[in-house]
Amino acid sequence: MNKKEMIANAIFPDIKKSVLDLEIEFPKRNLKEGAIVTRFAPSPTGFLHTGSLFTSLVSWRFAKQTEGVFFLRLEDTDQKREIKGSGDKVIEQLKTFGIEPDESYLEESMYGPLIQSERKEIYHTVIKEMIISGDAYPCFCSHDDLADIRRYQEDNKLLPGYYGEFATCRHLNDDEVLDRIKKGDDFVIRFKSNGQADQRVSFDDAIRGTIEFPENILDIVIMKTDQLPTYHFAHVVDDHFMRTTHVTRGEEWMSSAPIHLEIFDRLNWTRPIYAHFPVIMKLDDGKRRKLSKRKDEEASVDYFLEKGYPIEGFLEYLMTLANSNFEEWRIENPQANIFDFDLSFNKMSLDGALFDIEKIKSISKDRLSLMNAHDFTDNALAYARQYEPKLEEMIEIDRQYFEDIINIGRDQEKPRKDYEKYADVYDIVAFMYDKNFYDMIEELPFNERFSKDLIKEILDEYIEDTGLNLDQNEWFSALKDKAVKRNFAPRPKDYKKNPDQYIGHVGDYAEIVRIAACGKPDTPNFYDVLKILGQKRVVERISYTINLL
Ligand code: GLU
Repeated sequence: MNKKEMIANAIFPDIKKSVLDLEIEFPKRNLKEGAIVTRFAPSPTGFLHTGSLFTSLVSWRFAKQTEGVFFLRLEDTDQKREIKGSGDKVIEQLKTFGIEPDESYLEESMYGPLIQSERKEIYHTVIKEMIISGDAYPCFCSHDDLADIRRYQEDNKLLPGYYGEFATCRHLNDDEVLDRIKKGDDFVIRFKSNGQADQRVSFDDAIRGTIEFPENILDIVIMKTDQLPTYHFAHVVDDHFMRTTHVTRGEEWMSSAPIHLEIFDRLNWTRPIYAHFPVIMKLDDGKRRKLSKRKDEEASVDYFLEKGYPIEGFLEYLMTLANSNFEEWRIENPQANIFDFDLSFNKMSLDGALFDIEKIKSISKDRLSLMNAHDFTDNALAYARQYEPKLEEMIEIDRQYFEDIINIGRDQEKPRKDYEKYADVYDIVAFMYDKNFYDMIEELPFNERFSKDLIKEILDEYIEDTGLNLDQNEWFSALKDKAVKRNFAPRPKDYKKNPDQYIGHVGDYAEIVRIAACGKPDTPNFYDVLKILGQKRVVERISYTINLL
C-alpha cells in the first residue's frame, strides 16, 4: 500500500466502495432523447423564497416539457443553519402551487438518498479516491493560520484564499500527514487545484450563451471537519450520480462555476449544462436591488398565500418573469392552461427579473374574474380553511348561496373584476348576510345631501314595487322613471350641466336604494344582488332601514 492509500484508509477506514461501483449503482437514466433531468436543491434554512419558487417552477416545467425528471434534493450540509422541518414545509408549499417533484427525499429513490446528510458514504468514496490520486489532501490549518494568510494577502494586495504558495498543507509530506491523522488532529479535505491565474475557462450557459471566467486556482474545502461536504463538492457529486442533465440555479452561483467545472473535469465526468437563472430584483427608491429575505415581506411565498392571491395568478406572474414572449401568448390564449406554454431558455431575461407587485395584483384580478364560480368557491374555501375561519363559516352556511354571489358579473364577455385575492372576499360579500347587513345599516351611511324625509319617501315608494319580477333593463327603466319623477336627472351628465335644476341624478337615487338594501354604496352588480337577496328580504331590509331613519 502506498502512502497516499495509507492516508486515505486512515481517514476513511470504512469505505470499501469504489467510484466505479457508484457509476454502476447509479446508471444513466433511461429517458428519451432530449429529456431534461433537473432539480431544485433547497437548503432547509427557512421559508420558501419567492425566487426559489420561480427557480423550481421553471426547472419543473423544463423537465415536464421534455418528458424528463424533476427531483428535489435537500442540501442540509450546513447543519448550524438548518431549521428543522423547513424542508418538509418547502415540499408542501411547492405542492400548493402544483409543483410535485418526481423524486424527493421523502420517498425511496433509485438515485437517492436525496438528502445530503445521508450521502456521506458516496462523498467519502469519491474523496478517498481523490486522496489516493493526489487530487485532494487533508489540511490541518487552524482558523488562526488562515487568518494570518488572509492578513498577509490583504497587506500585499494579493488574491485572498488558499492557493499556490499559501496552500501550506499541500506541501506536507505524507508521513507527517499520516502522523497527524493518527494523533487525531482536526482537518478538512481540500481539492488540489491545477488552475492557472492567467488561463480562462469557458462554458455554454443555456440562458446566457458562452461564459468565460479566469480558471479557479483555489484549493477549496470539499469536506469539512464534521465530515460533511461543502456545497461545491456535493453539487458536483450529486448532480453527477443523480444524472442531472441541466443544473438550473440562481445566478449567484455563476462565479463559482469555474470551481465546479474543474472538479468535473478532474474526475473525468461529463459536465452538465448550466442554466443560471436571473435573480429577482425589486425597485427600492428608484434603485434595483435583490429581493431580500430580511427586508421584503414579498420575498416569502407565505406572504402571498396568507393574503390569498390566487395560485394561478401568482404562477402566471412568474411565467411572465420567466419568458419574454409569455404575455403575448397569453393575450392570444386567455383561457388556456399556463402549462400549455412551452418555456425556452433563450427567452429568459438576463439582467435580473424585476418584481412588480402591481402586476401580480392585476394578473390576479384577471385570473379571479375568469375563474368559474365553482372553482372560485373551492379555492376560496381552501384558503379560508387555512387562514380565515370567518370566511370558511360564511361559505359553509350555504355554499350555493355563496357561489351565486361570486357568480355575479361572471357569465359575460368581460367578467367583472371584483376580487384581487381571497382575503378581499369576506368584506366584499359580507353585506349579503343579514347579520352583517343589520350591523352595517345602523350607521345609515347615506349621502348627507339628501334629507331623511326624502330618503324615506323614496324607499317607501320603492318597496311598493321593487321591479324584481322584471329583467335588468326593464327594472332599471322603472327605477329611472321613479327617479325622474322626483326630479333626479336621468343621466349624470344632465345633472352636471344644470346642477341647480335637479336634486341629483339617477345614480344618486339608485345609491339611496342600494344603501338601504345593502348597507353600503359599493356592491357587485346591484340588480343581481337584489335578485339573489330575493323580493322578501329586500323588502325586509329596506323596511328596517326606513324604521331606523
Ligand atoms: N442549496 C443551494 C441553494 O439553496 C442550491 C444551489 C443549486 O441549485 O445548485 O442555493
